[in-house]
Amino acid sequence: MGDMSQAEMEDRARNPVLYVDIDCVECGKLMAMSNANKRDGRNLCQTCVDRYDFKKSGKKAPVIENLLNSIAKQMSGMNRDEASDKQLCVVCGKDASKFKDALSKREYEISKMCGKCQDKIFSC
Ligand SMILES: [Zn+2]
Ligand SMILES: [Zn+2]
Repeated sequence: MGDMSQAEMEDRARNPVLYVDIDCVECGKLMAMSNANKRDGRNLCQTCVDRYDFKKSGKKAPVIENLLNSIAKQMSGMNRDEASDKQLCVVCGKDASKFKDALSKREYEISKMCGKCQDKIFSC
């Protein structure tokens, strides 16, 4: 214990638990015990616990969902549910009921973009 300050040592003595470092079982990152999140009796860091909870919920990450919705609003004034109901493209607002292949049809289910807009966005 070479260069710990006096104050730091006193602090550690008072709150020993706070300073016990443990490994995250997922990524191996070292963290203070007080920062650990317990899931199924295992200790996870904040990053891994977010990923874990997200995987368990089986939902699309809310951040991505919100991002897609705000892009949609800016481009066409519709949100993705509206576009989906009317079979319209959320980006250009045009008809999106015909697709060149199954893949782009499936992509519409996720992004609510017509084939043309998919090509534009994914080709660059
Ligand atoms: Zn981790
Ligand atoms: Zn479009």
